[in-house]
Amino acid sequence: MKVLLLGGTGEARELAAQLVDFEVVSSLAGRTKDLRLPAGEVRVGGFGGVAGLTEWLRDHPVDAVVDATHPFAATMTEHAVAAAAQVGVPMLVLRRPGWSESSDDNWHWVESASAAADVLPTLGSRVFLTIGRQGLEAFARTGLWTLARCVDPPEPLPTWCTLLLDRGPYDVGAELELLRAHAIDVLVTKDSGGPQTEAKLTAARELRLPVALIQRPPAPAGVPVVETVPAAIGWLRRL
Ligand code: NAP
Repeated sequence: MKVLLLGGTGEARELAAQLVDFEVVSSLAGRTKDLRLPAGEVRVGGFGGVAGLTEWLRDHPVDAVVDATHPFAATMTEHAVAAAAQVGVPMLVLRRPGWSESSDDNWHWVESASAAADVLPTLGSRVFLTIGRQGLEAFARTGLWTLARCVDPPEPLPTWCTLLLDRGPYDVGAELELLRAHAIDVLVTKDSGGPQTEAKLTAARELRLPVALIQRPPAPAGVPVVETVPAAIGWLRRL
């Protein structure tokens, strides 16, 4: 059975590694400089929208498409749903669950990066911004001291914030040290979910810091969605 696996996440790499008796082609956008390659065959780069992906699927027939992209990679997911429907290929979305708030948390849910920037001045003055490279510019107008952490440097390089280039997984001890060293008093993050980048939320809870949490784009309608790698394997085996 041949599967197109849209990746760029830890779950996608785990799935590719476990699907030993399937023929898997993993697809990466190729945005990060230091690509973390999954096991097996890999293709890199955009397909060229819905039309490009539809054409790719016609040229490279597969039995299933699994979209295991990041929960915030909404465009890729939308394109995959449309292209798979056009070609008539079964499709599954693997989307890890979001993070859940505990009674010790001080979370402020917002709809977008821009909405987070609006609310920030009411929450603190020294910001730790962990939303990746995309959407950073929305925060320039806050005028607040900001430490922005991303995997690769944004282009052009922002001049209004201090940049920290790093890649998870992170641990709570190091996150606490970082928050203290920069006297951070508010955290901004997307509701990415998963254990790899959760430590900052635990650290913020320990320090009783407010967190502005950007909500996920809605899950796609009309296609099955699972939350774990074993559930995705189960779906493929049933297929
Ligand atoms: P996006 O906005 O949904 O996608 C933008 C375009 O990038 C897509 O239209 C597609 O180009 C191309 N693309 C995205 N994922 C692709 C894939 N797996 N294979 C081939 N082309 C892909 O995506 P994004 O938020 O920029 O994320 C890009 C990649 O980084 C994704 O694979 C995602 O899993 C990973 N990632 C994203 C985040 C995040 O916070 N957004 C975090 C960690 C990892 P065409 O239209 O030309 O096909």
